[in-house]
Amino acid sequence: MKRIVIIGGGPSGVVCALHAKKNNNEVIILERNNTLLKKLLMTGNGKCNYFNDEIILDNYESSNKDILENIITNNNIDKVREFFNEIGIVPKVKNGYWYPYSNQATTIKEQLELELKNKDIKVYLNSLVKDIKKNNNKYIISYNDTEIECDVVVISTGSKAYPKTGSDGFGYELLKKFNHTIIKPLPALVQLETKEKYKDWSGVRTDVELELFEDDKYISSEKGELQLTDYGISGICVFNLSNKLVRGLDEGKKEVIKINFIPFINIPVTVWLNDYNNKHSNKTIKELLEGFLNNKIVKVILKYNNINDNTKYNELSNEDKIKLINSLRFFKVEIASTKGYDNSQICNGGVSLLEINPNTFESLKEKNLYIIGELLDINGNCGGYNLINCWISGILSGTDIGDNND
Ligand SMILES: Cc1cc2nc3c(=O)[nH]c(=O)nc-3n(C[C@H](O)[C@H](O)[C@H](O)COP(=O)(O)OP(=O)(O)OC[C@H]3O[C@@H](n4cnc5c(N)ncnc54)[C@H](O)[C@@H]3O)c2cc1C
Repeated sequence: MKRIVIIGGGPSGVVCALHAKKNNNEVIILERNNTLLKKLLMTGNGKCNYFNDEIILDNYESSNKDILENIITNNNIDKVREFFNEIGIVPKVKNGYWYPYSNQATTIKEQLELELKNKDIKVYLNSLVKDIKKNNNKYIISYNDTEIECDVVVISTGSKAYPKTGSDGFGYELLKKFNHTIIKPLPALVQLETKEKYKDWSGVRTDVELELFEDDKYISSEKGELQLTDYGISGICVFNLSNKLVRGLDEGKKEVIKINFIPFINIPVTVWLNDYNNKHSNKTIKELLEGFLNNKIVKVILKYNNINDNTKYNELSNEDKIKLINSLRFFKVEIASTKGYDNSQICNGGVSLLEINPNTFESLKEKNLYIIGELLDINGNCGGYNLINCWISGILSGTDIGDNND
């Protein structure tokens, strides 16, 4: 019989606990909040997007994608599917994104808590862990004003993202003490502040295509609904690009996003615009553009190009026509910063994958110390990919701990 202490009662820690509870092991979760799974309740706008039909490496960023390839495997993904099946979560699948059929994140929280109760796993709430020391083969964990000794310790304290849910980066500092390398955690899946601000289009949501360029080199593109704000840009497509640009931005690289406001035009834009104008030649340029674009976007684009609202398209110089088309098809915004940890869904970065066993998530630096969940340098896009990392690392670490009788 071993005593296993799991620090952090988020998705990864809870799932690890459920799998570690075997062979009469005593399993204890230490959670600083007065409830488990606080962040999980916020996921997917309160509906919890916990899984995805299409789980491929392209949906992740990491400094060690070659190692990640051994974690995001079909076999491990099957284990996640089986686990949710076993605990009785019925999915509702929307465009490949999985939510509980109830549409409530609380369903996942409550079903996981029920499993913890049925397995007699001890949960110590309001328990803030301050330090861990190793004494021979035992770990001594200081929390609140007391200590607890254990054989195995699991660190599942999450990242620095959304600290009001309890994850404040404690795990990084703790693991530095155990000589782990931390890839600088940066806010990701987050709104972006742009250098130029366009207050006139604030509040608009529009379907676009985005292309990201780093120091003028094409990096990636995204399609989806863009939210234009007074500080910059937001929306799932922006969040996904934020995951790709934060490291470059932090290193001082120039990050530019080109917005295609007219993704529905699939012939040369000049041809399309000429034809459209011919059919509506009595309209001013403003009236013409408002036929297919939000009037607030039209206002910004015309102002940006110094084009008078009442001009007719045919009256524009060739140079102005080109400038206008460029703004419709490649409106450039340069990224100044992100909206920070307080607003980010995850951190890009974390404990280097070079220092964990990808089959068990045990530290390669310390025996019987496991590191799981978002604390690791596994950085998924929107779509359930970050929780998938938590489920996989929770299942594999817990299974290893539970099966291993040393
Ligand atoms: C608004 C929002 C929406 C999101 N939506 C989705 C989504 O739809 N799909 C998806 O896949 N991902 C989503 N994510 C990301 C996902 O929630 C996280 O990746 C996931 O919760 C990480 O799980 P974790 O177990 O690693 O850590 P966390 O969920 O952060 O849990 C860590 C726990 O450790 C506790 N803890 C920390 N330090 C200590 C300490 N010193 N002592 C004791 N306890 C401590 C914390 O209180 C916390 O409860 C979203 C995130 C946010 C913020």
